[in-house]
Amino acid sequence: MKEECAVFGIHGSNQAALMTYLGLYSLQHRGQESSGIISSDGGRMYEHKAMGLVSKVFSKETLDGLTGHMAIGHNRYSTTGMSHAVNTQPFLVNCKIGKIAVAHNGNLVNAVELRHEMEEKGSIFRSTMDSEVLLHLIARSKAGTIEEMMVESLLQVRGAYSLVFLLKDRIIAGRDPDGFRPLSLGRDGDTWIVASESCAFDIIGAEYVREVEPGEILVIDGGEPRSIRFAEPAKRLSRCIFEFIYFSRPDSRVFGENVDKVRRKLGCKLADEAPAPADIVISVPDSSNTIALGFSEGSGLRYEFGLIRNHYVGRTFIRPRQDERDWDVRIKFNPVRGVLEDRSIVVVDDSIVRGSTMRKIVSMIRDAGAAQVHLRIGSPSITHSCYYGIDTPTRGELIASSHSVEEIRQYLGVDSLHYLSREGLLSCVDDPENYCTACFCGDYPVERKGRDRVPEAKENKC
Ligand code: AMP
Repeated sequence: MKEECAVFGIHGSNQAALMTYLGLYSLQHRGQESSGIISSDGGRMYEHKAMGLVSKVFSKETLDGLTGHMAIGHNRYSTTGMSHAVNTQPFLVNCKIGKIAVAHNGNLVNAVELRHEMEEKGSIFRSTMDSEVLLHLIARSKAGTIEEMMVESLLQVRGAYSLVFLLKDRIIAGRDPDGFRPLSLGRDGDTWIVASESCAFDIIGAEYVREVEPGEILVIDGGEPRSIRFAEPAKRLSRCIFEFIYFSRPDSRVFGENVDKVRRKLGCKLADEAPAPADIVISVPDSSNTIALGFSEGSGLRYEFGLIRNHYVGRTFIRPRQDERDWDVRIKFNPVRGVLEDRSIVVVDDSIVRGSTMRKIVSMIRDAGAAQVHLRIGSPSITHSCYYGIDTPTRGELIASSHSVEEIRQYLGVDSLHYLSREGLLSCVDDPENYCTACFCGDYPVERKGRDRVPEAKENKC
């Protein structure tokens, strides 16, 4: 199951649940389907989780009930078909070592296989989440200490995981040896924090310390966190480059780099690769704002606000008749006629997945009177699904898996279209050999096994 999520953990705060709530608030962009916090006072654990946004899930009363100086939290992304309360995290179980809870970002590629093996032997599962498989492995381990149990279990799973565990007296954070998903360590005096992105440190006044390293677990139980290397980091890491393109917030630091800086470079590179005969450049707010700024810097074209986004759109019960009007996009964006009319426009977006959103946006921009529309995309074309935690649809639904750039240009109705090259993309990060680009070329760094095998894996090398 795909898990595109946010994780957070804090140890040594007399307001641990409140700090976790604030951290989750700043990480809302990583998951909007459900949210949860579990706290511990060193003896008992307290839990609250529900479907919905952080602001809806928690109240003063629920936070007051989450006592203790330690807490972990999780925001889950909406994925089709799996949207059940039973799949909310953090996930808490009671086993021979007592209560243990986990918050997970990533996707274990051998979870289905391990689950079948365990079910054959009589294990009963409560959810469809990968993370439950991991808790079963820990519960079954015969190792001597909790850290050893965890290491033994982590060595059996494959794929992407940035994890935060809560035990009654400690927090343990860990990251897979390939380093797929981000996880950072922060501190505020004697309070230690781990979070998917550093924007969660800023909101609570903590400072960024470093990344949790690939193949490392950190045991946080008072004093300096203890580091245990449970596996050698992969020779070539598989950090998800999509974190820089779309997923992370621009004010965050992930994989040791500032997202804002990388995103601006993407825009600048795009302007280098494909300048356009235009009057102005606009973004599709908010995800491509910084890439468009970079394009503006690189091309010398003025950056204007050509689309206004309504920030108050949640899940709406209004389902206007499915006629020719594109309600979903109209509810979210409105064109600024005075900016667009009679102008030749460069529209910068971060990515095209199915192509349906962009087709509607282009028609909206044309209806507002634009003379020409030149589309520039801050990533290469997405031709393959992700199996490591980014929610991409099946390959057949990805427009670029079966259409050429010219066909896509015609479908979208733009005058010109350019995707950033893979080389251009990689030139924007410090450490280009250490990124996964499987969604752009199908070169999957970790293959799925058995029933869960990726059919198209390795077929289309970068
Ligand atoms: P579409 O091409 O209509 O499927 O939508 C593409 C838009 O969705 C892009 O412009 C991104 O802003 C956004 N997007 C890209 N990847 C994802 C993702 N994994 N989850 C949610 N939205 C995404």
